[in-house]
Amino acid sequence: MSRFLKESYQAMRAYVPGEQPRDMAYIKLNTNENPYPPAPAVAQALTAGEVEKLRLYSDPTCLGLREKLASLYAVETENVFVGNGSDDILNFLFMAYSREKGVAFADITYGFYSVYATLYGAEACVFPLKADFSLDYTEYCCLNKMVVIANPNAPTGLSLSLSQIEEIVKTNPEAVVVIDEAYIDFGGESALPLISKYENLVVVRTFSKSRSMAGARLGYAFAGKAIIADLEKLRYSTNPYNINRLTLLLGEKTVEENDYTLQTCEKIVATREKTVLRLTEIGFTVIPSKTNFLFAKYPGISGKQLYEALKAKGILVRHFAGERTKDYIRITVGTDSQMERFTEIIREITRGGNYA
Ligand code: PMP
Repeated sequence: MSRFLKESYQAMRAYVPGEQPRDMAYIKLNTNENPYPPAPAVAQALTAGEVEKLRLYSDPTCLGLREKLASLYAVETENVFVGNGSDDILNFLFMAYSREKGVAFADITYGFYSVYATLYGAEACVFPLKADFSLDYTEYCCLNKMVVIANPNAPTGLSLSLSQIEEIVKTNPEAVVVIDEAYIDFGGESALPLISKYENLVVVRTFSKSRSMAGARLGYAFAGKAIIADLEKLRYSTNPYNINRLTLLLGEKTVEENDYTLQTCEKIVATREKTVLRLTEIGFTVIPSKTNFLFAKYPGISGKQLYEALKAKGILVRHFAGERTKDYIRITVGTDSQMERFTEIIREITRGGNYA
């Protein structure tokens, strides 16, 4: 760190992304990526002609993609915002709304929320999840603070019902409520139908998980027109070309081929349920998941030990060192064959080791 860095950034702890190792080929179940390729139309769209067009700036209005998303989800184009991954959108939301009144989120949730709160000097009101990792939605009612909830939550996989979300949105009319639906396509009830009713609601989504486009960096959000206008103002004040031409094009192709997304999500959900059964049989406690990952623990072997033993056998999962999460590993749901290999190795580890 240099002596020039702004003082309030000096103690800030940056977000730590999951490992992207290069030392060997792992079965990668650590960053909730989709094991299936993007929609077939994506590869077909990558032509020499499109590469030639890279000399031109991308469309700063992102209109083509916003229109396609609006039509797929039956909202107006002015209700749609797109960003360079949903992280980019969350960044704009915290930039816009967190400082004034402070921001509330759970103790065990997406790690970026607390980073953004610090980045923007917002007071964070952190509510601990209950012992079973469920979220008590009543704590977020009548707060008069910005609220950010991942629904379904990560890394737990648990979700709130639409009526619980509505209660939070309804009882905080003077503050913005952000529902981060990064994993909604794998289960859970979307809050999207509420955006026409509540001007304080933002629903954030991503192409990274259900649409197999994590490397393209593309996220989208739905909200009332006034909030979308705020976000556009901030985007045009930082980087109006934040989404590159190819990503915009490939995003449109993916939305056009939405049936492919629905099919891959169905496959992942089926694999998830099979994996839950196998892990439960082996003796794991598995939190019921509405996502493309599982949060699970095994008696007598710590999360770190499981993580390390799996890594030694070529399988990467994620371990979160916090006091309440240290017994668990988070396992991204891969293909059927990847998960068969995973359970095979897990059987060996749980049978053999001396982990006392
Ligand atoms: N929200 C949640 C809950 C996530 O788990 C992630 C992925 N790490 C994101 C947002 C960000 O995803 P992306 O920037 O790839 O859209």
